[in-house]
Amino acid sequence: MDSTRAHDGTHEVVIGLEIHVQLLTASKMFCGCATAFGAPPNTLVCPVCLGLPGSLPVLNRRAVELGLRTAVALGCQVHPRSRFHRKNYYYPDLAKNYQISQYQYADHPPLATGGVLEIPSDGRPRRVAIRRVHLEEDTARLLHPAGAGGAASSLVDYNRSGVPLMEIVTEPDLCSPGEAREFLNAIRRLLQFAEVSSCRMEEGTLRCDANLSLQAPGGPPGVRTEVKNMNSVRAVERALAFEAVRQREVLARGEVVVQETRHWEERRGVTFASRSKEEAEDYRYFPEPDLVPLDVDRAWVQAIRETLPELPAARRDRLIATFGLPAYDADLITATPAMARFFEETVALGPHPKAVANWLAGAVTAYLNEHGVEIDRIALTPARLSALLRLVDEGAVSGRTAKDVLVEMIARDQEPEAIVESRGLQQISDEATLRGVVDQVIADHPGPAAEIRAGKVRALPFLVGQVMRATGGRANPEAANRLLRERLS
Ligand SMILES: [Zn+2]
Repeated sequence: MDSTRAHDGTHEVVIGLEIHVQLLTASKMFCGCATAFGAPPNTLVCPVCLGLPGSLPVLNRRAVELGLRTAVALGCQVHPRSRFHRKNYYYPDLAKNYQISQYQYADHPPLATGGVLEIPSDGRPRRVAIRRVHLEEDTARLLHPAGAGGAASSLVDYNRSGVPLMEIVTEPDLCSPGEAREFLNAIRRLLQFAEVSSCRMEEGTLRCDANLSLQAPGGPPGVRTEVKNMNSVRAVERALAFEAVRQREVLARGEVVVQETRHWEERRGVTFASRSKEEAEDYRYFPEPDLVPLDVDRAWVQAIRETLPELPAARRDRLIATFGLPAYDADLITATPAMARFFEETVALGPHPKAVANWLAGAVTAYLNEHGVEIDRIALTPARLSALLRLVDEGAVSGRTAKDVLVEMIARDQEPEAIVESRGLQQISDEATLRGVVDQVIADHPGPAAEIRAGKVRALPFLVGQVMRATGGRANPEAANRLLRERLS
């Protein structure tokens, strides 16, 4: 249960999100420079993205396609003609002193408006309305190298200047910080499956600002504050929870909430008011004179609709229908496109789909969560998982040992057979070997052995456990069980 959702008797929490994602294009929004991450500073630049006089922008068609994909996936209305605008402000991260963006004017609409995304809320689906989807360019990155007593100067890296961004703005439809978290997870999943963005918050390819207000039921909207500087889904949830409590306390003191931008400080777990460029300036939006209007005809939208990659809900339903997976497994496996792909590639190699699902939803997901990594960034491949499952099927390793082999496989980047061989982890099914162990266990535990001889089989699992222990977990448990019964009958 989400405690911050509970009303204080007078006010409900009202939250809207503004999400920026970096689009998966090879080149920038208005020039041919590469968008590659991690290049040396100021190496991926040209007169256009440096804002040099006389340079002219040319719109990246691929970026428009990815925007349209998003609009179609969210069920938005795509506008046949949209315009780009100049958003003017003066700041060192902006070479031209304006950012080319889109705004929502009645006569100059953005790429798309309307739309909806469903999220789970207290176990039930809830529809969150989308206000608009628009395209814009990213700013340069400012670096503040810290010297003694703080940064004496700032450095600017223009590699990010002009990188294609898409902004998704929700209506203030979210009722709790928990719902904001669910929305972020859902939109990330949708955009990853649609192959629109990598949506990695830790790498900045998904960024989220939020606004929050408190509203008396049936009353007018309350004063909103904007919350920025949140670098993870968890940070968004924590910052909004803090902000809801803070505003309640302000109202409880009989004061009024001030409309302002507040920055989240992760370390202290608080938001604080900050003067920012947004408050200080009026952006003076006006149509970008260097770009013609963006015309999108029906045929283009139809082509986008027909080539849209399989979205998460459809993928989940197909896994259930094709492989008979339980809904719980199907949900976990469609958490990311990489996981879904891994599942289908492994199944194609022969193992039973339910066994693959068990491993992915169980031991593999546990490993990923423990190490905070994704499945496409570890040394596990469909071929290796398939080979490991074959070893279990053939009785070469026990299910318990296989979990250790899995971890070793990832840590050492080796084939499962090599690990089983080099570590001597082969399951012992050989009866002659096991019989010796079984006899020793019986001799060491005369009490339980006598009980079984007297017909009380309750003690049997204990003795099987002793056989497993004596063999370092390598005994075939079924064979051990059978031999113990034979010896004690
Ligand atoms: Zn450029």
